[in-house]
Amino acid sequence: MTLAERDHAVVWHPYTQMQTAPLPIPIVRGEGAWLYAEDGTAYLDAIASWWVNLHGHAHPHIARRVSEQLSTLEHVLFAGFTHPAAVELAEGLLRILPANQRRVFYSDNGATSIEVALKMAFQYFNNLGQPGRQTVVAFRDSYHGDTFGAMSVSARSAFTAPFAALLFDVQFIDVPVPGREAEALAQLDAVLAGHQVAAFIFEPLVLGTAGMVMYEPAVLDALIQRCHAHGALAIADEVMTGFGRLGRLFAADFLQERPDIICLSKGLTGGTMALGATTCTAAIYDAFLSDDRTRTFFHGHSYTANPLACTAGLASLELLLTAESAADRARIAAAHADFTRELAGQPGVRAVRRCGTILAVEFAPNETTSYFSRLRDQFYALGLARGVLLRPLGNIVYVLPPYCITNTELRQVYDVLQAMRELVLHPEAQPTPASLPEYPHD
Ligand SMILES: *Cc1c(COP(=O)(O)O)cnc(C)c1O
Repeated sequence: MTLAERDHAVVWHPYTQMQTAPLPIPIVRGEGAWLYAEDGTAYLDAIASWWVNLHGHAHPHIARRVSEQLSTLEHVLFAGFTHPAAVELAEGLLRILPANQRRVFYSDNGATSIEVALKMAFQYFNNLGQPGRQTVVAFRDSYHGDTFGAMSVSARSAFTAPFAALLFDVQFIDVPVPGREAEALAQLDAVLAGHQVAAFIFEPLVLGTAGMVMYEPAVLDALIQRCHAHGALAIADEVMTGFGRLGRLFAADFLQERPDIICLSKGLTGGTMALGATTCTAAIYDAFLSDDRTRTFFHGHSYTANPLACTAGLASLELLLTAESAADRARIAAAHADFTRELAGQPGVRAVRRCGTILAVEFAPNETTSYFSRLRDQFYALGLARGVLLRPLGNIVYVLPPYCITNTELRQVYDVLQAMRELVLHPEAQPTPASLPEYPHD
């Protein structure tokens, strides 16, 4: 049996209809922006393996630091004990996060960083003697993860439908995309007037899963300002936007207003290991200090602050803060800008959005053809056939690469986007790919 067949016999994959999905591609090695399959095929990882990878695969600096840590201290429980990597990573994060962030609470991934943020916010008001403050405001098209709290504050969709009755109520407002800011502000005003709002949770400036939907810092400042005037907390979900993805280190660096809580994961370890962090202000932290033990934040995970993951985080941070990494991010942004100009006025494209190292092309399929429903699958197959890993969100194809990607490699990705545009214009010229999996979220 091949590795893929053995996988198929025993493994259940995420977001995958196991009955119709083709066998998974077995990857045996990674280097730079490339993934290498068992049969020797190379794939250019243009989406940073689900938005996690910053510096390239199997980066030697991170590998060396983690392997040294592995033979020094692999893990220790994190209640009553601590270790150097957890302390140094917390210090390093607080040095680069907005100055009002004073404490780091570790967890395991993006979804847990959200659960921690929500529980922190609810218990904060409970500890302050305002238990009635329980309403959460979120963007209608948001995505914050797949656990119950994270699902509750995310878009209601086919993927949350089986659990709809079990999700807590959230007040949703529209995403304030350019030209639609006033609607979102008015909706927030109405919610604040009618509810005891505990927190507003948002993907700052770019909503990833919604299709790389972008909005301006000024309107986010206005939304946060209104929440603060009402006494509600602002929770920035920087799980995707953090660590240079938007050009600056954090999306919060584009804002005047300061979020009270920030959620981090994905790029936190440079894409090496699973780790989440939720940071908060001194005011929030202080509300849990008491002689009364019931005010304690009773949350934790067996692997909280795992030393290997924290070490990967430290090694990744060292790379991220080099001048070379900053230059790479600027270079990618400039290449995206050039390609945006190349696409301007070309048929088959409805919109191009970009922010820092992210580029999203919204194709304009001819909906009179029956190909529309299959477009996503065709795009995906076309990319793989040309050695480029892209996972379209329907008719939206985004590029979100590791920062080490070269200009030549970027051109290879853009050429695939041009081929996708050809496919949109001339669908009849393309062979129909064999059955491909459906990916609900991406
Ligand atoms: C991916 C993502 C999450 C969830 O992170 P996981 O590690 O997959 O649980 C939460 N919020 C945003 C904005 C994300 O992009």
